[in-house]
Amino acid sequence: MFDLTGKTALVTGGSRGLGRAIALALAGQGAEVAINYRGNAEAADEVVQQITSDGRRALSIQGDTGAGREACEAIVKAALDGLGSVHILVNNAGITRDNLLMRMDADEWDSVIGTNLSGPFWMTRAIARPMLKARSGRIINMSSAAGRMGNPGQANYAAAKAGLIGLTKTTARELASRGITCNAIAPGLIETDLTADMPPAATEALTAATPLGYIGSVEDVAAAAIYFASDEARYVTGQVLGVDGGIVMGS
Ligand code: NAD
Repeated sequence: MFDLTGKTALVTGGSRGLGRAIALALAGQGAEVAINYRGNAEAADEVVQQITSDGRRALSIQGDTGAGREACEAIVKAALDGLGSVHILVNNAGITRDNLLMRMDADEWDSVIGTNLSGPFWMTRAIARPMLKARSGRIINMSSAAGRMGNPGQANYAAAKAGLIGLTKTTARELASRGITCNAIAPGLIETDLTADMPPAATEALTAATPLGYIGSVEDVAAAAIYFASDEARYVTGQVLGVDGGIVMGS
């Protein structure tokens, strides 16, 4: 589809779900991939093995993207050391800690903002310098339809994902003159472990509100990521692409 031969990528939260599918899709187009994971080394190694058995270079990097500046700098450094460069950063790692606004406690708020918003900020800060030097780069942020339309029980998550759109647009504006693009993907309901835990009534309501009428697959989202990563997308920056069955139709 898109030729990523000779490109290197770092995908956060890449051991399962959307991150795993994106890592495999990038490698499928020829990229070498560093897979960041927080806890499940076995799952990360399985992704690495799948990529290397297809003849591409890959490595896994343990690290908590929600743990602040130093943790994110260490992940970026490990990727640069291992791959020699990072052309593509996918800020995918994310968590949910759902609760109604009136019941949400400080830990639920802080942990989701920390991983879903501060994480991409510190990862972007850390990768910006080498990308500026290289005068090229692709930063892809995993937002959500919830960040564009809100979602009951997800004040923390929706705020982080909306904030990530602001971070995407500002990064795009600040780094554009050096050939670096920054875009966001805003998936709707996609079948992963994250959504498997949702109450069936919530899944049914969201599916009913989705014009295309079904839940998306991880491959639907990965296709958008490899487009944003490609040379063909060089004139596209600061955009939010809904991969959401039409649940959000922005102008
Ligand atoms: P998932 O829970 O299956 O995978 C998320 C991955 O991120 C896991 O491997 C997890 O270990 C990792 N992770 C979480 N916190 C981390 C941290 N602090 N440091 C490093 N890794 C960490 O979820 P998913 O459905 O694949 O979601 C991936 C991204 O897509 C998330 O940002 C999520 O918010 C977003 N998203 C998902 C959906 C959906 O319907 N599945 C919809 C919209 C947006």
